[in-house]
Amino acid sequence: MLFNIPGRDPLTIETIILDLNGTLSVAGVIPEGVKERLQKLRSADYKIVFFTGNTRNDADELSRELGIEWRLAADATAKKNLAAEFNAETCVSIGNGLIDLELMKTVALRIVTLQAEGVHIQTLLNSDIVMPSINDALDLLIDPQRLIATLRT
Ligand SMILES: [Mg+2]
Repeated sequence: MLFNIPGRDPLTIETIILDLNGTLSVAGVIPEGVKERLQKLRSADYKIVFFTGNTRNDADELSRELGIEWRLAADATAKKNLAAEFNAETCVSIGNGLIDLELMKTVALRIVTLQAEGVHIQTLLNSDIVMPSINDALDLLIDPQRLIATLRT
């Protein structure tokens, strides 16, 4: 998807990289409405992947349930290196923890979610947009006018 944003260079986003715990899931539960939003974004030709250390050993099940792929990433360096495989300059990263910080520094667009597990202050300070929930973050991409309104000068 190409976003023409007044006051900055055009932004091309092809891949959505999601953090799992505290972002895509809250206390191990996928919030209602997430699955439908991911389906809409897949229909809009976004590639969608979540990176996780798989602490809860639930990544395979969630991947099947949500219809998106996942990659094992044990630490911040692993997340950053995985992003490079997805052409980081065409990725949006949605996360919440310090483990997402190095990855965030390499991608085209950085969104943090401030949900029940919190957001690390360093990651927040290196983000472009803070959203109150994962559903709100996904809605920014579903309705480009919302994203453009927030990023434009
Ligand atoms: Mg997290």
